[in-house]
Amino acid sequence: MVSHRIWVPYQAALEYQRNRLAVASTQQKVHETIAALADGGFDAVHAEYVRGVAELRSKAVKEVRDREVRTAIEWEFDNAIESLNKAQSKCVDNMRSALAKIRQKHTIDFEVVKASDPVRAALDEILIEDRVGNRPSDEEYEKRKVLANERIAAGRPPGYADVSKDDATGDCLIWFELLDVAKNSSTPMLYITDDVKDAYQKVRGQIVGPDVRLVREMRDFSGQDYHQTTLDGFLRLARKHLRATVSEDTIRTIESTHKVGETGLLAGKIKYYATANSSNGARLPIFVIDLLDEKLAPLGEMVAVSIPSREWLNNSGILDKDYVTLKRVPGNFGEGYQIVGPLVDRRTGEEKAVRYPENCNACGSRLILISREGREWLECTDEPCRERLIESLGP
Ligand SMILES: [Zn+2]
Repeated sequence: MVSHRIWVPYQAALEYQRNRLAVASTQQKVHETIAALADGGFDAVHAEYVRGVAELRSKAVKEVRDREVRTAIEWEFDNAIESLNKAQSKCVDNMRSALAKIRQKHTIDFEVVKASDPVRAALDEILIEDRVGNRPSDEEYEKRKVLANERIAAGRPPGYADVSKDDATGDCLIWFELLDVAKNSSTPMLYITDDVKDAYQKVRGQIVGPDVRLVREMRDFSGQDYHQTTLDGFLRLARKHLRATVSEDTIRTIESTHKVGETGLLAGKIKYYATANSSNGARLPIFVIDLLDEKLAPLGEMVAVSIPSREWLNNSGILDKDYVTLKRVPGNFGEGYQIVGPLVDRRTGEEKAVRYPENCNACGSRLILISREGREWLECTDEPCRERLIESLGP
């Protein structure tokens, strides 16, 4: 579905070819080491254990005088050791085959990679002619390397996190290609990379979008929008949204990171939409949000965040059940929270547009939307109902 829109930078293809065999070989060694640990390692631990049990046996019978009793006790200990041995060998067998399965599922044997790499074959099929960047001339390549090194020294993304490497210019060389191709083809760009060192904007360890400096540079240089996501993020999006919403959501994610700068954000997940009753009879639209840690796991803390207006809702693109970024803001009653924007990459498809209720849940009369000085709230059109609400909340 997207193969005709895929494009691979020359530098990325080059690095793939260069590193392919070394990576396959390293992976092979890693798995061989793990297998050896499972075999020999377990055996050694087990032998130690059995030795301990044998010592217990000697201790147990030391004071036993009756020979028959002594033999019976020793026999029980030997029984125990035999069960342990059986359990050990079964356990190692199970683990050996489970590890082999993991290895088979996630890696390709080095000999296979060397002879006829199936991944490369699949790539060759997709990456015909203009799907791969052109090899720059030697002269151009050298020029770009100089430029890349200057940027890295100045701490400009991408690639400065690689500064300790012998050659840190790879990410930056790719970036130059992306700039050119976006400009020449007048197409917005979605770059998929799992290289999360320095090209992403993070909030408490959670990726929320590309580094805004890259978005800005792409816009200045090519006039095009830019977004990047990790492979799993892309696949999640592709599954659910590819045709309908990716470009717009993409932009919104970028915007939301633009607005707040780089730090101080929290993550949350909208639990539900509700209205909070206010002492003047108004019903204030709010989101009830579960606060999350940097791995987007629940912190067990809930907060109510007011929804400023419907226009704000539409512009922010936030849907009910969205993962969102939040910032702390000072409020009338201590610290409050404000939603910055949705984490679009986390969407699962269960998110829905927020619909304000049309009728009062107390009396069933129509609710009307009141808008004053940039704030909005709902009010019941039935005056006695409104007064009852005010009374019930007290002075
Ligand atoms: Zn009412």
